[in-house]
Amino acid sequence: MTDCLFCKMVDGVIPADIVYEDESLLAFRDIHPQAPLHVLIIPKRHIATLNALDDAVLGGKLLQTAAKIAAEQGYADSGYRTVINCNEDGGQTVHHIHLHLLAGRAMHWPPG
Ligand code: AMP
Ligand code: ZN
Repeated sequence: MTDCLFCKMVDGVIPADIVYEDESLLAFRDIHPQAPLHVLIIPKRHIATLNALDDAVLGGKLLQTAAKIAAEQGYADSGYRTVINCNEDGGQTVHHIHLHLLAGRAMHWPPG
């Protein structure tokens, strides 16, 4: 999608601090990190929200890649949080589905 920030990052038009990439996914550091590790994992294909996720394998890959990056960065045992915000009440600001991976500090519950 031409008007999508994250599609532009997939296309290399807007720079990304990439931590992982394969044929279907891109993972990069959040520009406003909310924890010592804050990575966004996205499908390269434009999917606007979790409501539109039509590929269970791709959804599973998003989760498995989060676990893989967390382990690589040394947070498998101490723990981490994964979040997908959906639409307005969920706090979604970029309408290209993304999984937040947050680690490196104790998280609060319930989330704000
Ligand atoms: P959400 O509020 O769940 O839609 O999350 C969108 C996230 O994208 C926020 O955490 C932003 O800080 C992040 N973000 C926005 N622009 C960029 C960018 N150019 N590079 C990296 N992360 C970004
Ligand atoms: Zn997009």
